[in-house]
Amino acid sequence: MRICRTLDNRTCLIEGNEIVDVTGALRALPSCSYPFPRHDKLIADLDRLRPLFNEQLRTGARSNLDGLALTAPVANPGKIVAAPVNYRKHLEEARSDIGISFGNQVAEIKQVGLFLKATSSVVGVSEGIMLRHADRRTDHEIELAVVIGTEADRVHRDDALQHVAGYCIGLDITLRGPEERSLRKSVDTYTVLGPWLVTADEIGDPSELELSLLVNGKQRQKASTAHLIMPIPELIEFASSYYTLFPGDVLLTGTPEGVGPVVAGDVISASISRIGTMTVGVGTA
Ligand code: MN
Repeated sequence: MRICRTLDNRTCLIEGNEIVDVTGALRALPSCSYPFPRHDKLIADLDRLRPLFNEQLRTGARSNLDGLALTAPVANPGKIVAAPVNYRKHLEEARSDIGISFGNQVAEIKQVGLFLKATSSVVGVSEGIMLRHADRRTDHEIELAVVIGTEADRVHRDDALQHVAGYCIGLDITLRGPEERSLRKSVDTYTVLGPWLVTADEIGDPSELELSLLVNGKQRQKASTAHLIMPIPELIEFASSYYTLFPGDVLLTGTPEGVGPVVAGDVISASISRIGTMTVGVGTA
């Protein structure tokens, strides 16, 4: 199942090039009041919603996907967990390019662990990236984004994928410089998630997905999740050994080699096999 959210707050399912609006089915979600939960309610109740969504898919009116203005497929992620260096060749390029490392020590994930990005940095395809501190180098990083479906506290890698609701494409936009990663990567609009959520059953094994990123039509990044230093099940085990992962939490799994700068006016085209392609504009805030 492919689920998207629109800028005017509709939730839709996608089949081929058509969409069916299932916003009405969200009335089945349990109501909540202040203090609101820290997890995403739609993701937490996806199993309950699924039959209602399927019914809408059979009977609902269809319209065209083209031109639909999309926001991030997860409305309320509780946290954005990100892997700093999780592809061998990216580790090598980061160590060799002072413009990437900025003199910071670059070590692989098992030594440096994970970092968090502010949830306020999340946008969808149609909102685009709005650069701040645009006089400084700002890079694109394509990453497979894993959306957690059920609470995961100290899970073993063998059970980890059972906690995944689905996947989307992630862009971990990064201001280069000497400051902490979480600051440089938490700028508003610097976490692009999209174009939609593909549920885990449609992806199956996420260990051989092809990633590709072009800027203005020119290839910059091309790799496979087969080359992850810490594969997804181990990443979930590692993350959940420190903090509980909740429904709607997003794991950015790390970027492969080929990162490079973007400037206002650029157009990024990011693809991951079995998910799709998203085209994201870059502007200035
Ligand atoms: Mn990254």
